[in-house]
Amino acid sequence: MKNPNAGFNTKLIHAGAFEDEFGSATVPIYQSSTFKFKNAQHGADCFAGKSKGYIYTRIGNPTIRALEQNITSLENGFDGIATSSGMAAITSVYMALLGANSHIISTGAVYGPARGVLEQDFSRFNVEASFVDTSNTKNILEAIRPNTRVLYIETPANPTMDITDIEACAKIAKEHGLLLVVDNTFSSPYLQKPLDLGADVVLHSVTKFINGHADIVGGIIVAKDPEVYKKIRHSMVFMGCNMDPTQAFMVLRGVKTLSIRIDRAQENAKKVADFLASHPKVEWIRYPGLKNHPQHELAKKQMKGFGSMMSFGLKGGYEAGRKLMDHVQLALLAVSLGGVETLIQHPASMTHAGVSKENKKAAGITDDLVRFSVGIEDAEDIIGDLRQAFEHI
Ligand SMILES: *Cc1c(COP(=O)(O)O)cnc(C)c1O
Repeated sequence: MKNPNAGFNTKLIHAGAFEDEFGSATVPIYQSSTFKFKNAQHGADCFAGKSKGYIYTRIGNPTIRALEQNITSLENGFDGIATSSGMAAITSVYMALLGANSHIISTGAVYGPARGVLEQDFSRFNVEASFVDTSNTKNILEAIRPNTRVLYIETPANPTMDITDIEACAKIAKEHGLLLVVDNTFSSPYLQKPLDLGADVVLHSVTKFINGHADIVGGIIVAKDPEVYKKIRHSMVFMGCNMDPTQAFMVLRGVKTLSIRIDRAQENAKKVADFLASHPKVEWIRYPGLKNHPQHELAKKQMKGFGSMMSFGLKGGYEAGRKLMDHVQLALLAVSLGGVETLIQHPASMTHAGVSKENKKAAGITDDLVRFSVGIEDAEDIIGDLRQAFEHI
């Protein structure tokens, strides 16, 4: 893209794209595992980093590179690293930034496997982890130890919709020599730019909003500092967490409509939230766009919009929640989020079933919590679906 000052929507369409000899309008799928060197010297130069040619797809590939440059420009970072999944992005970051006997502080309500891999796998290498409610920064300060290296936050958090103050965390990280990593999956760079707010690393499950069509799994990491970028790139390449060229093509296609998809989903979400807030069978609702959300003002400050994710509880608790899920007709009863289609799920019996009772309680995941990812269908149909399902409770 020739204009470095182009706006966000222009970047969505053009950033990272390059011209090929045929004048392709989109970045083609370079479905090749390996790349020919022009001669022995060129091969040696590629390996020595003196020449820019591609070598092998686990290390780099033109289609994947286009995606990395696209998302890097959206997040205002130094450079990006695409991965096979969101979890591959998370484990590559852990591997690169943690070491034996080091310590990480993480949001308690963080994505389940992002917590599980620390507790069950990294713990075997003496990596210590503290999970705290990061929406209150006092808890972070209290958890800092001499060996703390990373402050890892997810905001809004999954599925409680708790919001953590990114700028305040960046200040704490700076003062204590920690690296601040933000999982920006729930917001996407359209709604929230953690690097601009002082974070060191931002990562995504591109499976969700960035790709947006529920048809691939993938991840991406964007770093602000060249040295941090190099470390994470090394871990990704050596552990083999690379994305595939076809995956990258799909994400490049999906990301082009990121802002118009989110605009529409948010508009729907506001209507759905208002409907739920006034429904007699709903006990409570958590949506950052509602004034009764405890961090509504913070959300307004650090996000460009309130997104399309919400959670709510029914007066009948767990059983009522199950009945609701058995009677929706339009919303898909499925995990994941951020796609064009509306999804509904029950974390206590599904995504967070493996989390212990006390950890669930500490993370605010109650048995009655229903998670709702609002899609881009007609708002009247989404609300109508909920209304008819409520009649069965
Ligand atoms: C889905 C998700 C992940 C994991 O991503 P995968 O692509 O499923 O590996 C990480 N963080 C958040 C917030 C997610 O929603």
